[in-house]
Amino acid sequence: MQLTDSIGRNINYLRLSVTDRCNMRCFYCMPAAGIAKKTHDAMLSYEELLLIAETAVSLGIEKIRITGGEPLVRSGIIDFLAKLATIPGLRHVALTTNGLLLEDLAVGLYKSGVQRLNISLDSLSPHTFSDITRGGDLNKVLAGLDAAERAGFPPPKINVVVMRGVNDSEILNFATMTLSHGNSIRFIEYMPVVKEDGWQRFCISGEEILQRIAASYRLEPLDKGAFAGPSRDFRIPGARGSIGIITAVSGHFCSDCNRIRVTSAGQAKGCLFSDERTDLVPYLRPPDREQLAEVLRKIVATKPEHHSITTEGYAHQNFTMSQIGG
Ligand code: SAM
Ligand code: SF4
Repeated sequence: MQLTDSIGRNINYLRLSVTDRCNMRCFYCMPAAGIAKKTHDAMLSYEELLLIAETAVSLGIEKIRITGGEPLVRSGIIDFLAKLATIPGLRHVALTTNGLLLEDLAVGLYKSGVQRLNISLDSLSPHTFSDITRGGDLNKVLAGLDAAERAGFPPPKINVVVMRGVNDSEILNFATMTLSHGNSIRFIEYMPVVKEDGWQRFCISGEEILQRIAASYRLEPLDKGAFAGPSRDFRIPGARGSIGIITAVSGHFCSDCNRIRVTSAGQAKGCLFSDERTDLVPYLRPPDREQLAEVLRKIVATKPEHHSITTEGYAHQNFTMSQIGG
């Protein structure tokens, strides 16, 4: 079965958030303090998340990425993933993590059936990393990266949010890392989620990132593989890893967008930057598979054609990325 939206895009990818809590506080994603903790009831149970996943897969979703907040802080996550991975028809299970808890959980994650990990890592300097994440320990993340490969995972994709004056001096270091490491380094344009004065000062376009790398290295474009994301991918000739550019702000990839999102509180969204959201809780408590399927189809059918963020401005309401899952 295929899920197709009103402009013919095949929607086969669900980003499912299992928590909005996090053990870091990246300044571009969450405020330092003042986030009210959700009550236990406000958060979907694992059974409810599985019901959403099963229903979505029965409609045509083939890939699910588990995200958060930080998905690895939720207790029972490995058992949940093991159940998720057995859903008939689900071809690809991936997880995005900040890597802090990965050293201990990598083996369990691999055995649960998760196929790929994305790790967010914005700096290779302990000091800058700690500044961006408000106290995160870079060594723990690096130990998590090693543990993931030892556990059997292919080299994780590394997500780097590039911010001018914060970590842009490391673009070349990350690119050079692909010569000796098999990871795909994906440079992500900083996205304004909270409207604060001067947010544009952090923005560096994907084009500028590419030019800076191309000043030192020749870059060969790569073909997209199955379940490839919205990145444009390149390889330095002879390098073990690859380089991806995700231009969420400067060059919309909306025409190829294949995803929907559900938050840990059961809010479904057809577009990260749309203020439209649909509450799935009435179809989960008590569970009603038919109605849930109907409402998921409707979210796909009404998926916005594109978002309207540019470096000039944007119209969406403020939100924190940790609530939605990036
Ligand atoms: N905690 C996990 C992590 O950090 O990988 C998963 C959730 S996090 C919200 C998912 C992704 O969103 C991360 O790669 C993060 O860098 C990205 N992200 C968060 N806020 C962002 C922003 N303002 N601009 C661009 N990417 C952002
Ligand atoms: Fe936490 Fe990930 Fe947001 Fe950083 S980007 S605060 S690690 S949810």
